[in-house]
Amino acid sequence: MRYKKEDIESFMTSIMTKEDTFKFGCKMCGDCCRKRQEPIMLTGYDVFRVSRALNIKPFEFIEEYTEWYVGDSSYLPVVILKARYDGSCPLLRKGKCTVQEDKPIVCAIYPLGRIFIAGEEESFGYFEQPYSCGNGTGEEHTLKEWLDKFKVSEWDEASILWAKTIARCAMAMRNIKQDTKLFTGVITVLLNVFYVAYDIEKDYLEQFKSNIEKMEIIFKEFKIQL
Ligand code: SF4
Ligand code: SF4
Repeated sequence: MRYKKEDIESFMTSIMTKEDTFKFGCKMCGDCCRKRQEPIMLTGYDVFRVSRALNIKPFEFIEEYTEWYVGDSSYLPVVILKARYDGSCPLLRKGKCTVQEDKPIVCAIYPLGRIFIAGEEESFGYFEQPYSCGNGTGEEHTLKEWLDKFKVSEWDEASILWAKTIARCAMAMRNIKQDTKLFTGVITVLLNVFYVAYDIEKDYLEQFKSNIEKMEIIFKEFKIQL
């Protein structure tokens, strides 16, 4: 979801601690999978995990289940889940998520949102999304309990590296956006580095690090400052 500046400022003042609680009552209506207001953006790790859960190559997953475009402010490839003709998520079957255990991070933490906090102790800050369904009602949960349900903390190293790499690349792409030929070529490189060039049988993080190294070599060759 793309937040407004004032939303981000408000989230920063309401970052939760692990023991903070929130109330949330899911009515199991499935609307978040059927008619989501905002597209579900996927990180590279989301693409990897969902491809692995479906036992297909990331390339096949991207072809069949997603759409991608170049972000108008990030200048980076952005991959989102395709919507079916009726607006529902293509991973929904008979009212159930087919990748429940490996669902994308935004689905896993809903109704919470998160924001990357740079600095000496890089981390993610979690907050209650102001516009979500059913918040403020239902059972009380701690942040820790909510994140533990999908073992979200185990993704932190990959997620932090992702956030940092995205920020570095966005800066570099902004600098070369006027050079259409170079820009288009680098977008293809980034699609591979971020999403496609992964073997679902191997460790994600090692492959991501190795892809970043290959990307740095290409950027150096083309004198693109990272
Ligand atoms: S999270 Fe909200 S929209 Fe999704 S199933 Fe539960 S109540 Fe419905
Ligand atoms: S990935 Fe699963 S949880 Fe997320 S919108 Fe699709 S069906 Fe729903």
